[in-house]
Amino acid sequence: VKFVYDFTEGNKDLKDLLGGKGANLAEMTNLGLPVPPGFTISTEACKVYLGSGEEPSALRDEVSAHLAALEQRMGKKLGQADDPLLVSVRSGAKFSMPGMMDTVLNIGLSDKSVQGLAKQAGEERFAWDSYRRLIQMFGKTVLGVDGELFEDALEAAKTAKKVAVDTELEAGDLKKLVTKFKKIVKTEAGRDFPQDPREQMDLAIKAVFESWNGDRAKLYRRQERIPHDLGTAVNICSMVFGNLGPDSGTGVAFTRDPASGYQGVYGDYLQNAQGEDVVAGIRNTVPLAELERIDKNSYDRLMQIMEILENHYKDLCDIEFTIERGHLWMLQTRVGKRTAGAAFRIATQLVDQGLIDEAEALQRVTGAQLAQLMFPRFDEQAKVEQVGRGIAASPGAAVGKAVFDSYTAVKWSRSGEKVILVRRETNPDDLDGMIAAEGILTSRGGKTSHAAVVARGMGKTCVCGAEELEVDTKRRRMTVPGGQVVEEGDLISIDGSSGKVYLGEVPVVPSPVVEYFEGRMHAGADDADELVEAVHRIMAFADRKRRLRVRANADNAEDALRARRFGAQGIGLCRTEHMFLGDRRELVERLILADTGAEREESLKQLLPLQKKDFVELFEAMDGLPVTVRLLDPPLHEFLPDITELSVRVALAESRQEPHENELRLLQAVHRLHEQNPMLGLRGVRLGLVIPGLFTMQVRAIAEAAAERKAAKGDPRAEIMIPLVGTVQELEIVREEADRVVAEVEAASGTSLKLAIGTMIELPRAALTAGQIAEAAEFFSFGTNDLTQTVWGFSRDDVEASFFTAYLEKGIFGVSPFETIDRDGVGSLVASAVEAGRATRPDLKLGVCGEHGGDPESVHFFHEVGLDYVSCSPFRIPVARLEAGRAAS
Ligand code: PEP
Ligand code: MG
Repeated sequence: VKFVYDFTEGNKDLKDLLGGKGANLAEMTNLGLPVPPGFTISTEACKVYLGSGEEPSALRDEVSAHLAALEQRMGKKLGQADDPLLVSVRSGAKFSMPGMMDTVLNIGLSDKSVQGLAKQAGEERFAWDSYRRLIQMFGKTVLGVDGELFEDALEAAKTAKKVAVDTELEAGDLKKLVTKFKKIVKTEAGRDFPQDPREQMDLAIKAVFESWNGDRAKLYRRQERIPHDLGTAVNICSMVFGNLGPDSGTGVAFTRDPASGYQGVYGDYLQNAQGEDVVAGIRNTVPLAELERIDKNSYDRLMQIMEILENHYKDLCDIEFTIERGHLWMLQTRVGKRTAGAAFRIATQLVDQGLIDEAEALQRVTGAQLAQLMFPRFDEQAKVEQVGRGIAASPGAAVGKAVFDSYTAVKWSRSGEKVILVRRETNPDDLDGMIAAEGILTSRGGKTSHAAVVARGMGKTCVCGAEELEVDTKRRRMTVPGGQVVEEGDLISIDGSSGKVYLGEVPVVPSPVVEYFEGRMHAGADDADELVEAVHRIMAFADRKRRLRVRANADNAEDALRARRFGAQGIGLCRTEHMFLGDRRELVERLILADTGAEREESLKQLLPLQKKDFVELFEAMDGLPVTVRLLDPPLHEFLPDITELSVRVALAESRQEPHENELRLLQAVHRLHEQNPMLGLRGVRLGLVIPGLFTMQVRAIAEAAAERKAAKGDPRAEIMIPLVGTVQELEIVREEADRVVAEVEAASGTSLKLAIGTMIELPRAALTAGQIAEAAEFFSFGTNDLTQTVWGFSRDDVEASFFTAYLEKGIFGVSPFETIDRDGVGSLVASAVEAGRATRPDLKLGVCGEHGGDPESVHFFHEVGLDYVSCSPFRIPVARLEAGRAAS
């Protein structure tokens, strides 16, 4: 195998092998764009290294050969004393992990070659500045020296010289700083800073490999669900210099605004600087538009390249570039991250530009982004106290207590507090705190600062660069204009869509996208309406493409109507137990405790009209659409009084010698029905089989309600669903009785009701015997909540709070199997049950009504295994529609 590829050898589709950065550098090289020459060490080499602790034996020779070719091309050797070739060594994985892994610039400088560089560039200051940067970065990332020691020394040098920024340090100052830095390395790392350029390069390559498994990187991957076994590529690129004076500089640019999606000139530029200065937010950048004034030629060329890239990638690209003495170089590009709103806008804009088609547009947005757009926003009518305004870096409305360090953010959020992490700027060490916080507020840095990039990636609200806020992390407070002080723990609100910062808690209102789905949003010209327009169009694409139908889990007319507005094509699960709570609980209690048939009959007789009325309302709300009514499911004890409370009541009455016959009888019954594992006990079809008349009453209520709707010229489409079936015999018994009742109602009302009867598949045995069960069922609905519970043996009510955190941390699964379907286990049972069921009954209707029905990844799975519909809570219906469309395109 080959481990090293020249930039001219790769292309953008080789991200697995070359990482995103390497693949795109190759793509740009082949597009003829100005990319400094270099080569990429593949992820395969990294995997070998991480697996064995050693580089593959062929790697050294391959690197030597590519380096020799590079040297020949550049006409100078790595680290050559009189005119050194310098390179950068940069990490670059398949998926972007901003700031999570290592990069070292200026490799090749040494005590000798720094002089050569100075002479060649005619710039002594520049050479020493580059050298001190090398020692600093190399010391920190390769040799593991605490970065603050270097920063403190740099700070001290500035203070001694009484200057504010590092560009004001002169060659002599930097020379002294180099000596200081080398001492720090020697003391801290126990070795000298290596003077041999090849040794520098080899150590840097190894450090990049190892940074794949750094704590920050691992945490980020878990967050973003990036697999841990991909490894990173290493890009070795000849250096170009943005720190060669005022006619040099470095910057980042977007071909469109990643926050709004609009085309324009977006980015930041920093004169006389190297790349890491921009991302770290160390000096304040200027907006990219100012480059036109600073260096018109480079600006024009950059605009031209941005257009080439957008048309080539057919998407928003972000770009890192450097200008070396008026010559523009491209250091990186990739399809850029964007906010949820921008994703929808950009997708429709690109369709309008004819760059992509509808199917491709659907791949440019996700259900998770749509869900984000459905979050509430701040109430514009509310009385607010605005104290600052920064850059709207990542949208959303976040309210929480101000905290000023990552540790406190994590600690407070663990104890249930909502917090806003406030920093001057963030760096990768703040990741824990950013995850824990509701939102992030910084006083420095632009749209491309660490805080902004990472927050957008996480879908977290972020306002950055709110410069009039004076953040004092040491004293855990910030001062706002006018002098007011926000202490740790004070409530603040930040708006990531406008960049505004408020004191106190600002009330929130529904999002315009929800208003649109609710039918309350009207067309207009403001920003929100444009977003709504884009969502509207994308939803239409999805609805045209998708094969899966989408139903709702709803058990009252109000939810059903909302679901319908959101696009539900029926109800996939009406949980009738929800209809037995409140005032009706007592009736159920009496039913359960009845000693005689007559008593039971009486309770059922009272329940019947109530149930019927529920169904009439539901069928009316869903007129013309299927409504799957599930017969009573949950364990009986849920309808009975709490055992401890009741025991106390009985004991008290006893001690006071008060009459307590009824309580005692109740207590005995509660004891009788008490179960150690109620979820595995008397529930579902088992209830129907042991409590005479219960299911009969429910079936009658459904049938009579349907007949009544028919008589009213409605179009009821009821389906009766039997829960927790494990064997076809259970179903047959219930079915026989149900068929009889339905026939009776049909005869009495003189209508044909055509009520389908089916079952849930939510026990492993049901899935395994699906072929038999299909004999007695006209439809299956997979109850993936119970199926996950019983396949894994995980109590669905307990595990998430008990040991799932440990499981997620250990990477046993990347996401709870109750949230996203476990394809290999639970999923394979679903797939085989689908096959067996259809083999018995080719027209068997198949759906899912567990929570997974509204989970994006799971929707794709259900599409793949050939279900007819998914059913989810009303609020998730748009997400399910969108994902069903994406799955089919
Ligand atoms: C299920 O088990 O997946 C299901 C939908 O039923 P419930 O959640 O009511 O048990
Ligand atoms: Mg269930």
